[in-house]
Amino acid sequence: MQIERPASYYDIVVVGAGMVGASFANLLARTLGEQSYSMLVVEAVATRAPEQPSFDARSTALSFGSRKIFSRMQAWEQLAELVTPIQEIQVSDQGHFGSVLMSHREHRQDALGYVIENRQLGQVLNPMLQESPAIDFLAPATIVDSRPVADGMDLSLQVAGEEQQVRASLVVLADGGRSPVSEKLGIEQQRKAYDQKAIIANIGFSKAHNNVAYERFTDSGPLAVLPLSDYQGQHRGALVWTVATGEADAILAADDQSLLADLKLRFGRRLGDLTQIGQRAAYPLTLSVARESVRPSLVLLGNVAHTLHPVAGQGLNLALRACDCLVDKLVEARQNEIAPGSMTVLHAYQQARESDQQAAITLTDQMIAWFSSNRPERVLARKAGLLAIDLVPGLRRGFARQAMGLNSW
Ligand SMILES: Cc1cc2nc3c(=O)[nH]c(=O)nc-3n(C[C@H](O)[C@H](O)[C@H](O)COP(=O)(O)OP(=O)(O)OC[C@H]3O[C@@H](n4cnc5c(N)ncnc54)[C@H](O)[C@@H]3O)c2cc1C
Repeated sequence: MQIERPASYYDIVVVGAGMVGASFANLLARTLGEQSYSMLVVEAVATRAPEQPSFDARSTALSFGSRKIFSRMQAWEQLAELVTPIQEIQVSDQGHFGSVLMSHREHRQDALGYVIENRQLGQVLNPMLQESPAIDFLAPATIVDSRPVADGMDLSLQVAGEEQQVRASLVVLADGGRSPVSEKLGIEQQRKAYDQKAIIANIGFSKAHNNVAYERFTDSGPLAVLPLSDYQGQHRGALVWTVATGEADAILAADDQSLLADLKLRFGRRLGDLTQIGQRAAYPLTLSVARESVRPSLVLLGNVAHTLHPVAGQGLNLALRACDCLVDKLVEARQNEIAPGSMTVLHAYQQARESDQQAAITLTDQMIAWFSSNRPERVLARKAGLLAIDLVPGLRRGFARQAMGLNSW
């Protein structure tokens, strides 16, 4: 429930109620029900504020595995009304032979994944936080300092101009990629800047998308169009276009008609005429992985633990699998009367997550290396790779299972 003043002690404090913090808190509360830990969720930005950085104008491709996690959270019924299923994924390379079509039929599932507008995801997850009897939800409020103490952490919060203190057995840090809290704790990030930005915008087109998601590797970088539901009779999709940092400003400033013409050149007529483009925004892209994901009484989740390039649509899906695993470990700890912040619990969590996390990071980083390059040997290798995935059913299934987030199930 929404509160104005926190208590002085909680079993668990979640820092940040973006897509990951809100998902984790709701999942834990719904899984444990009345047996839940005492839990405080602190979010710096007011829930419906236009500047909310997580539930913003982007759209997210959710994997089939993420659907299972939202079902466990009892949120899927509501989300199912809002998502657009992805039934086919078409991967192609501009100007080169070789394209891959993956279909839900091959995997005997209703869909390979689902697209949700981030704002709509917030409209489902935030009321759950505000209404759950197991959660104290405080927003806007900011964690400004954290100090390890015996058996827990002390946190300083800024709430309505006042500083308050809270102690927790476990702090779940889900405060995103720019995390002064983790910096102050001395947690280092291993970073690789791609010198690229993702331009996002909704686009309108004349042909129905038929639930196909397109990933096209172009001379300027990967370009994805995710299917969205029609709006006022207009066929729509969410564009995620990765470009070199130096090109981003010109794209943001370009007028709609010349930008649509430019996109048409790169994307072709798969969706008929490109007729409209909405407000654009740019996100700088880096790979950033925290050197430590757990410490006594502390666990990092979501972008603060790993920020990935969006090309493979893995960031949130990977984080949701981590939330699911942490919830399992905390349920076990509850049954065995072990403190949630104990290293027994956190080590078990860390070990369980290592291989999936490494696989997603490697897949994403390799895709950037191969698909953002126009060096002849890489073009040739990717042509062969796309062809191989298209021709060898086992390879195609493996690729699709990773994209669907099913490899760790
Ligand atoms: C263009 C783009 C497209 C993407 N597409 C996909 C996709 O299709 N599929 C996919 O799986 N992933 C995708 N991702 C990745 C996905 O968006 C991220 O994984 C996700 O946003 C991470 O969420 P988060 O909650 O960890 O961090 P954030 O979204 O940054 O949220 C952090 C929250 O913490 C709050 N906060 C920060 N500091 C404090 C503090 N001190 N005290 C209290 N609160 C605080 C912030 O206000 C914010 O609400 C995409 C990313 C980009 C950039």
